[in-house]
Amino acid sequence: MINIKSKSELEKMKKAGEISANALHYGGQCIKDGMSTYELDKLIHDFIVKNGAKPSFLGLYGFKGSACLSINEKVIHGIPSKHEFIKEGDIVSIDTGAFIDGFHGDNAFTFPCGKISEEARLLLERTNDSLYKGIEQAVAGNRVGDISNAVETYARSFGYGVVKTYTGHGVGREMHESPEVPNFGHPHKGPRLLPGMVIAIEPMINIKGDDVFTQPDGWGVLTKSGSLAAHFEHTVAITEDGPLILTKPTIIGDDYPYRTSL
Ligand code: MG
Repeated sequence: MINIKSKSELEKMKKAGEISANALHYGGQCIKDGMSTYELDKLIHDFIVKNGAKPSFLGLYGFKGSACLSINEKVIHGIPSKHEFIKEGDIVSIDTGAFIDGFHGDNAFTFPCGKISEEARLLLERTNDSLYKGIEQAVAGNRVGDISNAVETYARSFGYGVVKTYTGHGVGREMHESPEVPNFGHPHKGPRLLPGMVIAIEPMINIKGDDVFTQPDGWGVLTKSGSLAAHFEHTVAITEDGPLILTKPTIIGDDYPYRTSL
């Protein structure tokens, strides 16, 4: 069953979304050469708590962290560790969420650590753009497949691989609700989008190949090809007036170098 949120529930979700987004981009601004992923997770955790929310991911399915931190060829679900260090030239995917007033927000962004290769820079920019291609289709009357197809078509136009094993999802009182929102598929297929639905759209894009595997810790998901991967995500409400991004950061200035909205 797909939950439809009332106007007052959407207001609460805006708050959860804003804290999630600010925690995400605060984390991104904290990234520096030599930092452990444990340290970065702690900063994100404390930011969420200071803003009166609970980290959605902490303890979710047994996850040990407040953010999934995935470096370079790790696509998603990296567990923060005192023994893993970020270095100049890495790309770092942060996925985090906040729970407040009964609702979750969920979002992800892949940040550069210092200067990165042109190949990596393009992957980040294009994966982020693929997210907005998907969001543009998050319109009442469309179907989930319209979003899926828009993401896939854009990513594949660069020869990139699209992760198929993991998908976006509904968001609300639970972190993961119906429907699934794949990053691949056919237009005009899948559940119909209705005003009041809230979904997380989250392209996971590899420079090479669709395939991924899970590392022995049971969490981290890596590209099979060993190529770099990127992950961008927003929580989006379907409204009468079009897609509404709930995870818009408000702590960033006009000079912020990254795209964060439609
Ligand atoms: Mg998600």
